[in-house]
Amino acid sequence: MPEIPEIRAHAERLETLAAGEVLKRVEPLSFTALKTASPSPDDAVGWPLRSVGQRAKFLLLRFAPPASDPAADGLTFVVHLMQGGRLRVLEPGAKRPRRPRDGLARFEFESGVGLMLTEPGTQKRGGVWVLAGDPTADGLVAGRAPESADTASIAAANPLAGLGPEATDIDAAAMAELMAAHPSRLHNFLRDQRAISGLGRRLANEICHRAKLSPFAPTGRMDSDGVEAVVAAIGAVVDESLAAERQLPQMSRSAERPSAVHSRTGEQCPVCGDVVRAVEYRDYSVNYCAGCQTSGRILADNTTSKFLR
Ligand SMILES: [Zn+2]
Repeated sequence: MPEIPEIRAHAERLETLAAGEVLKRVEPLSFTALKTASPSPDDAVGWPLRSVGQRAKFLLLRFAPPASDPAADGLTFVVHLMQGGRLRVLEPGAKRPRRPRDGLARFEFESGVGLMLTEPGTQKRGGVWVLAGDPTADGLVAGRAPESADTASIAAANPLAGLGPEATDIDAAAMAELMAAHPSRLHNFLRDQRAISGLGRRLANEICHRAKLSPFAPTGRMDSDGVEAVVAAIGAVVDESLAAERQLPQMSRSAERPSAVHSRTGEQCPVCGDVVRAVEYRDYSVNYCAGCQTSGRILADNTTSKFLR
């Protein structure tokens, strides 16, 4: 799944290509693509795209009426790409896909340029939420779920609600408070979007390795050296991935993203030469280097191994 560096570089690319374009039409191509019932996406027709931003693992497309304050007025389309999803630029005259198989939603601009939300596979979990107001400010006016919605769907009407602070915006003092408030294994804490947001499995692996901390280190008992190592590792790993991502014409595929340990089970650690190991879960692996991170101790997950047998 794309994380902060991939989404941020993608937002920068899209803003360069499409900022100022005036919206002509929004077409959900799949009935699951649009996650909110109101405001209507059609309200933004005739408005220019003011900016494309990133919050956690979401793209934020801001539309506002001409000559208005784009920070206060207008609508924000919050786009989640899920695994492998993309928001692709369609050049003027490009074939217009109309079926869900070809894409989840399409933005068409007056100039003929378009943006197409695509997601491979059949699950189609990506989508678009339409929110009024500035979604990055506290005064957000959330989208409203359909009338029949239950509590869970109403909460789901604003995917930004309940997110922890952006991982790259957290200093050591704030990180210490967050870790104390969310006692967990470090790897789980880093991926918990309600604790800190924008990181996933790859960066969690890389940050633990860079910080020379076990992925199982308990955040509730992290000392100040550990907290500072995590903050520094987040900054370094995100900066490096962002620099690599900015070199590319479009979003990298998972296998192209830089890593020292992530998805490198059995390879040599580039820092100490020890073998990269994995703790296997049903859906994913936690990769680590025992030489760098656990004083040579081999990790086994006693909490889940009995269920795997
Ligand atoms: Zn190592």
